Amino acid sequence: MERKLRDLTRREAEAGQIARLTNTEARKLFPPLAEGLEAVYAESGARVDGHLLRNALLRAAEKHGAVMRNGKAKLSCENGRLTGVHVDDSFFPADKVILAAGAWANELLGPLGIKLPLEPQRGQIVHLKLPGENTDSWPVILPDTDHYIVSFADSRVVAGATRETGSGFDCRITAGGLHEVLQEALSAAPGLHHATVGEVRVGFRPMTKDLLPLLGHIKGTDLIAAAGFGPSGLTIGPYAGSLAASLAFGEEPGMNLEKYDPMRKM
Ligand SMILES: Cc1cc2nc3c(=O)[nH]c(=O)nc-3n(C[C@H](O)[C@H](O)[C@H](O)COP(=O)(O)OP(=O)(O)OC[C@H]3O[C@@H](n4cnc5c(N)ncnc54)[C@H](O)[C@@H]3O)c2cc1C
Repeated sequence: MERKLRDLTRREAEAGQIARLTNTEARKLFPPLAEGLEAVYAESGARVDGHLLRNALLRAAEKHGAVMRNGKAKLSCENGRLTGVHVDDSFFPADKVILAAGAWANELLGPLGIKLPLEPQRGQIVHLKLPGENTDSWPVILPDTDHYIVSFADSRVVAGATRETGSGFDCRITAGGLHEVLQEALSAAPGLHHATVGEVRVGFRPMTKDLLPLLGHIKGTDLIAAAGFGPSGLTIGPYAGSLAASLAFGEEPGMNLEKYDPMRKM
């Protein structure tokens, strides 16, 4: 706790006001919190609703002329050169293609004989309902582990998440995964004991070994990788997307992307 507080204070400029809270103060903000736990409050911490963020980005792209096509994409190549993308029965010729297929990127690259240093990591996350409870203003809780608790407006609290390296694309909800997220959440916030289990979601983080994204031209091709965002894609994805778009237009991306070279050795 002391170390965390010192680290946070150093980053005060980004984190806004930082305050140490007693258990009583912390439970006023987040009533389910365990008795005895103190907290460090960072004013600028915020939650992101992934669905809303995605929809906003799609609407903004359409406003700027993007055309949406839903379907299964395949890269089209002739004599080893990229010619465009097939989406189901339609063909879209292209000079450059941005590969943003998350953990599935290598499935698309297979026919080109290219393999990015990327693998899926399963994450199981539980949505809990607290009927009648106004959870909208509850802060995000980051216990001293990899887990977290994020509250939303509709009396919903989300407890996440497992980090299952080596899972492959096995999308089952497992007894062990469910046990882990509930145990972690309930030990930090026993007040969630009577919450209703709404749903359990499973996702695949696109993980690289060095935990850095794969962002840049795939050498010898007209492909630009925007992948490997691991556990942070909701946060860094929009900016990474704008860097990838700059590369596709042949513009200077505005930051040195050398260490994100998609074909680097790991
Ligand atoms: C449980 C869990 C919790 C997370 N929590 C956070 C968090 O708190 N904060 C944070 O910043 N990040 C979080 N993440 C990570 C974040 O979700 C990912 O980093 C991010 O989604 C990666 O974005 P992406 O666009 O690269 O890939 P994805 O979001 O996986 O999107 C890739 C898309 O491409 C589609 N696709 C693949 N192949 C094809 C094809 N051939 N044709 C057409 N479409 C195709 C897929 O269906 C998918 O929709 C979490 C992830 C998980 C699993």
